[in-house]
Amino acid sequence: MTAVTRVRNWLAAKRRFEFVATVAMVIALTAVGGALVLLPKSALQIRPVPATADAAVPSVPADPQLPELRRTMESYAPVITRQVCTDDGRLSVVLGHPSQRRDVDALAADVGAAVASVTKLWGTDWARHAVIAVASDPAEFAALTHDSGEVSDQVAAASVSDPFVPPEKPTGQRVVFSAAAGGRLGDVGLRETLRHELTHVAARAVTVDGSPQWVLEGFAEYSAHRGSERTFAQLAPTLTARARAGTLPADLPADDAFAPTPGNDAALAYEQGWSANAYVAERYGEPKLVDLYRHLATGPQDPAALDTVLRTTLGVGRADFVARWRDWIRSRATT
Ligand SMILES: [Zn+2]
Repeated sequence: MTAVTRVRNWLAAKRRFEFVATVAMVIALTAVGGALVLLPKSALQIRPVPATADAAVPSVPADPQLPELRRTMESYAPVITRQVCTDDGRLSVVLGHPSQRRDVDALAADVGAAVASVTKLWGTDWARHAVIAVASDPAEFAALTHDSGEVSDQVAAASVSDPFVPPEKPTGQRVVFSAAAGGRLGDVGLRETLRHELTHVAARAVTVDGSPQWVLEGFAEYSAHRGSERTFAQLAPTLTARARAGTLPADLPADDAFAPTPGNDAALAYEQGWSANAYVAERYGEPKLVDLYRHLATGPQDPAALDTVLRTTLGVGRADFVARWRDWIRSRATT
């Protein structure tokens, strides 16, 4: 099996993939909007967003990115909209096309619970509503994520945001699913992917590009699987198999281990990142895990900086932390 084939097989097996630097993706919505100038004026007509039968009339203004987003999507295919108004009056919106109606309905049915789950973990310091778009094809997915490079048809979802200048809040944040996401992910995968991406959205304002991937992706994975009834071995099959064969991670996964490049076992890196975060949550509690994220998502961390943060947040140095994490993996994987 070639390395390329291995990666493709993993992507198929994992049934979910996203851009490696999801949180680093900064979207210039103006550029997307700029392309719309070429459309005939009739295509720019914004139809009022119809409320679903069970949706309450929102008491807050809709997300300001919606008109642009809707216009972009309408240039690909007719747009269907689902609005979900949560108890606190916040409005979440799912946009898609008739050909993805099943995914749109599934995401609309789940978005309230997903926002609540992320808020319970992260806290109330984020928008607490979601804008979700389901693309009709790879070209639309690229437009909605403003990806100018090669978009893999294996990419199932990405979270994007408008440029922002700290300490301002990021704006125009949304989660974009590919046309094939639902079929490839299944119901559970779609549900977990939504939570994973929403976690990136929630944490975006305090996340600095270049922060350790095991922190950013591992935390999002922890949030995605939070409350899952699946076992350790089911959530981390590669990590478990290796641990049962006597091989434990030598260290926390490096950033380049998360890249979907030939020869890389990115699935293992994601499992390791998830396990490090799950260990912290179980051993120290979720508030400490969030505290750790906030201290480590401040940019690149060399070993000395990581050691300092671990000591101040968890009271344990880097070497001891890694050793205890490895012990935890061994005990989880072999029981
Ligand atoms: Zn991610």
